[in-house]
Amino acid sequence: MFRRHTALNHILLLVMALLAVLTPACTSPPGTSSTVPASDEEAAVFAQQREIMVIETIEKRGITDERVLKAMRTVPRHLFVPEDQRDHAYGDYPLPIGYGQTISQPYIVALMTQLLELKEGDRVLEIGTGSGYQAAILAEIPGVDVYTIEIIPALARSARERLESLGYKSIHCKEGDGYYGWPEYAPFDAIIVTAAPDHVPQPLVDQLAEGGRMVIPVGPPGGYQTLWKFVKRPDGELQAFNMGGVAFVPLTGSGVKESREHGWPPP
Ligand code: SAM
Repeated sequence: MFRRHTALNHILLLVMALLAVLTPACTSPPGTSSTVPASDEEAAVFAQQREIMVIETIEKRGITDERVLKAMRTVPRHLFVPEDQRDHAYGDYPLPIGYGQTISQPYIVALMTQLLELKEGDRVLEIGTGSGYQAAILAEIPGVDVYTIEIIPALARSARERLESLGYKSIHCKEGDGYYGWPEYAPFDAIIVTAAPDHVPQPLVDQLAEGGRMVIPVGPPGGYQTLWKFVKRPDGELQAFNMGGVAFVPLTGSGVKESREHGWPPP
């Protein structure tokens, strides 16, 4: 059964690779009309690349949650990266999105989403909207409401516009320092932090619901960090699971700096 499945995958990949090679030859020469608008052809090529990305770099590396795989197959990552990066949109690596920031590697996006163990009716908080891609993946999980905070005003604005134009209605965007969370909508069933602080922000711990899951890279800025999954027990303590080494951009802003220097809550 497993072998047959693998063989089918190979045939599918071969067909998709052939299509990807043949597609440009099917475009009309300049000045003639085409039955398929150029953007549709482009979308089809990107869909093929997305499928290959999911099979080769996400399923093969152990992501099994079907809802996460479906989300990764659905969200058009090429529309979340700058135009000059689109050809690289389905490679398994982070890409620059301006302002010294990056859109995370697809495998890490899938892993962190799976680790959140989302359920219908869950409210999830993301710190670090960036391009909005991770927020879109979260919003593809049925029945989940997404709250996302970005500290760089220009990124917050462009992500909000992008998510709106793509029709994501269950995503609530805010510009600000995510260190403090979003108390008005707390408690959250899940919290995902996509920039790395050097300690776990206490406001986020406070805003995590009982039984809630937090996935967060913690470690020194500019270096490697540890990806942690925390589960909040009924007594308020966090149960910690080490998910391995990662490399994220640092969590910035006054919250992380002041708490490092003066502790939390502030004196
Ligand atoms: N999740 C993003 C995506 O899908 O494109 C990628 C996140 S990028 C690796 C990290 C983001 O966190 C950057 O956009 C950065 O500006 C943002 N960030 C850093 N410190 C922050 C803070 N204190 N509050 C909110 N966002 C912050």
